[in-house]
Amino acid sequence: MQNQYDVLVIGGGPAGTTIGSLLAEQGWSVCLLEKAHHPRFHIGESLLPLNLPILEKLGVLEQVAAIGIKKYAAEFNSEVTAPAQDIFYFAKAVNPDHPFAYEVRRSEFDEILFKNATAKGVATFEGVTVNRVELEQPTKKVWATTHAGDTLEFQCRFVVDASGRDTFLAKRFNIKQKNPHHQMAAMYGHFHAVERRSGQDEGNISIYWFEHGWMWLIPLKDGMMSMGCVCWPAYLKSRQQPLNAFFLQTLQQVPEVAARMKNAVLASDASATGNYSYRSSQIAGKGYLLIGDAYAFVDPVFSSGVFLAMNAGMKGAVYVNALLTAPAQQVQLTRAFEKTIQQEMRAFCWFIYRFNSPTLHKLLMSSDEKAQHPLKQKMKAAVISVLAGDACNQQNKQALLLFKGLYFVMAALDFKQHWRFLSFQRKQNKVLLAELK
Ligand SMILES: Cc1cc2nc3c(=O)[nH]c(=O)nc-3n(C[C@H](O)[C@H](O)[C@H](O)COP(=O)(O)OP(=O)(O)OC[C@H]3O[C@@H](n4cnc5c(N)ncnc54)[C@H](O)[C@@H]3O)c2cc1C
Repeated sequence: MQNQYDVLVIGGGPAGTTIGSLLAEQGWSVCLLEKAHHPRFHIGESLLPLNLPILEKLGVLEQVAAIGIKKYAAEFNSEVTAPAQDIFYFAKAVNPDHPFAYEVRRSEFDEILFKNATAKGVATFEGVTVNRVELEQPTKKVWATTHAGDTLEFQCRFVVDASGRDTFLAKRFNIKQKNPHHQMAAMYGHFHAVERRSGQDEGNISIYWFEHGWMWLIPLKDGMMSMGCVCWPAYLKSRQQPLNAFFLQTLQQVPEVAARMKNAVLASDASATGNYSYRSSQIAGKGYLLIGDAYAFVDPVFSSGVFLAMNAGMKGAVYVNALLTAPAQQVQLTRAFEKTIQQEMRAFCWFIYRFNSPTLHKLLMSSDEKAQHPLKQKMKAAVISVLAGDACNQQNKQALLLFKGLYFVMAALDFKQHWRFLSFQRKQNKVLLAELK
């Protein structure tokens, strides 16, 4: 086995396969080590319209279209607002060039990306877990273990950490930080026979606010429904019964969800995850880079995880290519890379941190199409652009500022309710969910 490469990538999910494929295309020798064997289960099935140009660039758009179901909109539902439902169609975004995305089974999606990386010349290995690195010298050393227990040693000029929530380098360097602004926890599972929307709306993601957080329904192509509840951590901590029972009981709390589930059967055991909002205090160092969930993850509410991971993979490929070509530019290149990655994350964070606040809840649901003022329509188009993944489009800037301004005015007008929410959120952010790690 060859063991010397220009670049070694840890992890073969969306981030790792994107950066690996693009660097191999540019002529670098790339090795990618994945601890699992594809196809493997992964949560994160709802893509964003802005994923599509990346998939096209990688040459896998047709394959993804074949396994996916088209998602034209994100549908929000609330029991306490009028209207009780609002549908945000991507065709109404500021830039309507990408009017849909796909809902995919991640086992199939990630396998397509992994095989594509192999086809592009990346030396890919499955069932190989990276467990040690030495990054101090110009020649980096990486050790990994195969499923059979053999140790492999690799040498490279550059290491990319795309190990997802395992956060391989961030843990080793002790630079992983809990997100102080946001701590939710999730339960999820796949169901047979959940009622779907009809016609063009069949593939839309449905989101329901409820007392303890919010729920998602993501329809998959084979008739399965991915469902999940994102809850305040204290609520998950209050669980007395087995996870499956608690998950089902929670889903039943929204009457419309319960009605859509009247014939539903859980396809396999539910899963739970807490402490998922974090960031590494450093994105890159001499000869290494952290991308996707290996760098940071905030929350699934805007389905931004896969897009941000692949976007970081794409931008990371430009960064690594420039660095390997001109190592003296390290400081400037890193600064520029970090700035764009953080800017994109921040654009989503503004909404994510406030998503459960009664103020944003009301503001998002108040867009009665016919009665709308042109300014309100502009704001809605800007919000749809964020939902589509086009969060940093300069054309959105003014309308988003206006939307945010309106949020603060509404919060000030209903100061007591807003203050109650902020105090509650602050307390929840301190709840530890060690058992869900
Ligand atoms: C509850 C929940 C719901 C979500 N829903 C959505 C959604 O609807 N839409 C969306 O876009 N995002 C969603 N996400 C986020 C999404 O799952 C992630 O953001 C996305 O998978 C990140 O991609 P990645 O390539 O960075 O990491 P991953 O997809 O996790 O890939 C990392 C890979 O690295 C491998 N690996 C780890 N450690 C090692 C090692 N030491 N050696 C070798 N290989 C290793 C892993 O096996 C894995 O295959 C959700 C997240 C959560 C928690």
